[in-house]
Order: sequence, then structure tokens, then C-alpha cells
Amino acid sequence: MREKIAHPDEIRRWEGEFPVRHRYTPGVAGEAFFTALRERGVLLGSRCANCDYTYVPARLFCERCFSELAADTEVGPDGELVSFTILFEGIEGEPLDLPEAIGAVRLDGADAVLIHRVPDLPDEPLEIGQRVEVVIKPESERTGSILDIEGFRVAD
Ligand SMILES: [Zn+2]
Repeated sequence: MREKIAHPDEIRRWEGEFPVRHRYTPGVAGEAFFTALRERGVLLGSRCANCDYTYVPARLFCERCFSELAADTEVGPDGELVSFTILFEGIEGEPLDLPEAIGAVRLDGADAVLIHRVPDLPDEPLEIGQRVEVVIKPESERTGSILDIEGFRVAD
């Protein structure tokens, strides 16, 4: 019989080393996205003309109509904060020294949102609808990872 966890405190946990590794391939469109990010510092999306919808990161096909898409649409670097949350605990429930913000941003030219950190919180509270801009690491520090994006900064 399966256990039914009714309350988060009932979850049992074993500490230890578990030798599991993951290797995830980004796929054709993901490769184009990460290469453009690393080499040119730009964000690539894919536009579906049928659906009048632009995905970001780039996709190989439209998840609405299954049309083949190209990774050829630059979006951002500015956009609109459409949602955010403030974290006071880390992923293991450890308290953070300083709260961190995670934002969902609709970059200019995109319909989908990109979720990333808002690393330097402004003095004023964040607001939905605020203009933000993506902050990308200097070229010498980029590795072709989503962490080549430092996050979003509230635009002046
Ligand atoms: Zn479509």
C-alpha cells in the first residue's frame, strides 16, 4: 500500500550520497538559444506565424499547432515583469541571509515568459507591470548556460 502524505512534516528524508548524474541535451533549438546567448549575448525565440505566438527560449516546434519553428527571433533585452515571488528560504529549506526574488518576464517581442532571478532588488518594492531588462554576463564569463543570464534588473 502506498503512503499518503497529508502534511509536509510527515515526509521522511534520508541524508546521504546518491550517485546519480543527469545529462540533458538542449536539442536543436536549445542549442541555437545557448550558442546565441554565449557568443552574441542575445536571447533567441521562435515565432509561430500560425498561432501568432513567440516562444522563448527558442523551440523546434509549436506546442499549440505542431508547426516546425526556427530559432531566429531575437527578443528583449527589455521586457515587462508579469509575476514574481520573494524567497526567504533556499531549496533545502535553509534560511537565506538576504531574500531573493524570482521574476517571470515577458521580453519585448515574445509572448512566453522567461523565469529568472532579480538579483539586485531595488529600494522600492517590485511591481507587476514594471519594465525590466535582462542582465547578461560579460562575454569572457559565458559558458552557454542559462546562468549566462544573471537575471533581470528594474529599468531606469
Ligand atoms: Zn503554432
